[in-house]
Amino acid sequence: MDTSLTQSHEYDVVIMGAGFAGVCQARHLLLTIPNIKVAIVDPRSPERSEEKDLKIGESLIEVAALFLCKELGLHDYLIENHTPKSGLNFHWSKNPACTQRLEDYYHVWANRQTPISSFHINRAKFEQDVLRMNKDMGAVFYNGRVVDTELTPGDAVKSVKVKRGDEYIMLHANHIIDAAGRKFLIGRKTDNLLFGSENLLGLNNGSAWLRVKNVDRTIFQDGYKPLGTFSSPYYATNHFFGHGHWLWMIPIDRHSMELSIGVVHHHNVIPSENLDSQGKFKSFLKANHSVLDRVIDSGNIVDFHYWPKLAHRSKVLFSPDNWYVIGDAAHIFDAFYSYGTTMIAFAIEGVTEIVRAKLAIEADAEQKRSAYNDFNQAYARSVNCLYRGHEKQLGHASVMSWRIYFEYMWWFGVHIPMYIGKWHLNLQFISQYVKIANSNVDGLFADLCKQFDQLVERDANLGLMDCYRADQLVGGYTTLKHFDDFLENTKFEPRRCNVFASMKQAYFYIAVWYIVFQWKGFGIAGILAPKHIYYMCRMLVLSGKAAIAELIYKFKIRKLPDSSQIEKMRQEFKTYRTHLISLRSLE
Ligand SMILES: Cc1cc2nc3c(=O)[nH]c(=O)nc-3n(C[C@H](O)[C@H](O)[C@H](O)COP(=O)(O)OP(=O)(O)OC[C@H]3O[C@@H](n4cnc5c(N)ncnc54)[C@H](O)[C@@H]3O)c2cc1C
Repeated sequence: MDTSLTQSHEYDVVIMGAGFAGVCQARHLLLTIPNIKVAIVDPRSPERSEEKDLKIGESLIEVAALFLCKELGLHDYLIENHTPKSGLNFHWSKNPACTQRLEDYYHVWANRQTPISSFHINRAKFEQDVLRMNKDMGAVFYNGRVVDTELTPGDAVKSVKVKRGDEYIMLHANHIIDAAGRKFLIGRKTDNLLFGSENLLGLNNGSAWLRVKNVDRTIFQDGYKPLGTFSSPYYATNHFFGHGHWLWMIPIDRHSMELSIGVVHHHNVIPSENLDSQGKFKSFLKANHSVLDRVIDSGNIVDFHYWPKLAHRSKVLFSPDNWYVIGDAAHIFDAFYSYGTTMIAFAIEGVTEIVRAKLAIEADAEQKRSAYNDFNQAYARSVNCLYRGHEKQLGHASVMSWRIYFEYMWWFGVHIPMYIGKWHLNLQFISQYVKIANSNVDGLFADLCKQFDQLVERDANLGLMDCYRADQLVGGYTTLKHFDDFLENTKFEPRRCNVFASMKQAYFYIAVWYIVFQWKGFGIAGILAPKHIYYMCRMLVLSGKAAIAELIYKFKIRKLPDSSQIEKMRQEFKTYRTHLISLRSLE
């Protein structure tokens, strides 16, 4: 590395990139590790105009929302500056040739506000604001471009070379985080990246999107839906489906009535040439989702982008040499369900804990590094799996609705309680999770994907499964049901949320879903096929194992309160006496 430099500085951590991942990582480190010295590098000017800087990645789901609101303390900020989100809605056209109005679609509506509130964020504003907050907390910002890194082995100090104007600055740190998105600063240097559908469970997708201001919301829906839903249809993330593609419609600014509208398409069904310009994207909408084209025509288009390739992943996420890749620098698969910022939240919490443990020279720091790397890899693989087979299935309302229901069961039954209880940072839990997640991706999920394909080929109708309703499986089950009272009783400290209770129930209902699915899709032959009996039993065994784990867990935590803060206040309250008496005596 060239050493003709004008300045040189030392930090505990250098973060390359001040996008969503970089600014959130910095804030989490600053809030968690007292006196940590953090530098952030990004070539974008902090004073850039928001309009020039618009980015995708605007919709948050529960884990990302909890991370921002709870772990980063940004709930008030989000309420005051960003747009509320009322769940996810899904729409399939009744007749692809007729898509003028929303009534031309079948729907799965979020019929109520989900208990964990979420947001749509204006990314440009969010990143500028959180960068400012980081600077106020002591982080040093270099408005320059990383041009080289020296990734020394093990705990040896690493170097980052930054070009700022005509000068070069050398930053030295024990830990280096690549949050520079698709520039792949570390990925390219270490040959860490994997592209191509053969490395991505068959995924080969691209995306086109635009932002449009001053739209007439009533073209989509006029807000009057007294018998349909108790949440706003417009302020949801709305998904529209068709063969080989799905579209999002996300409200990103409620004052300027601004929307983000985009498509993810699968190349083997819809080639790039059909979508790679604003005109082609509009024509595509006019032909396939005319209602969205009308919404766009009611406003003023702000920008347009096309990315021919979305997906990639990394061989290593958190290296024993103290470098880390997070956000787009690490992996991305597809935007469906808005998992990007959730994967970032899981990764950031892992990185912070590794950095904390290593700076404190704790004995299990390297063990944590290795386990968190494995957890985030396994989690990413199960996110990748959510999109396997999409190219065939997206446009089939019945099959997709069953698939979405199934995927919701895992999200609310396993992922959210796991996140709330910080089980993703618990080494024992991780070793079990990684085994189960990987074997599901290769086993049950792979097999189900083949079955979904078969049903699409047969154009089967299993009915429209509604992931928000409680009247489709047994016992009034709904995918959003919580099986532990972690919200009611603020079980927000690590390991207080009883993830085993949720897993026990979720696996049981997944087995029930599986039986009903086999019956409706393939009849008695589906239920009695030996492989299917195996998967049913496997889910029931997992449910049984979770029940045993729950007993052990309950025994271990028997003396702990649900919430230490509440317990402390209750203890203090024992000495409570009303002050009314002393006030009266003053009269
Ligand atoms: C079409 C699409 C839709 C999506 N929708 C959603 C969604 O609704 N919800 C969701 O959660 N996720 C979504 N995602 C994923 C989400 O966009 C990403 O997870 C997220 O934007 C990644 O943020 P990041 O900070 O890693 O990268 P970026 O936001 O790209 O930030 C990278 C930063 O690095 C800086 N940088 C670049 N080069 C250098 C350099 N040499 N030195 C220093 N800094 C540098 C850049 O200036 C930038 O600020 C979507 C993705 C796609 C492709």
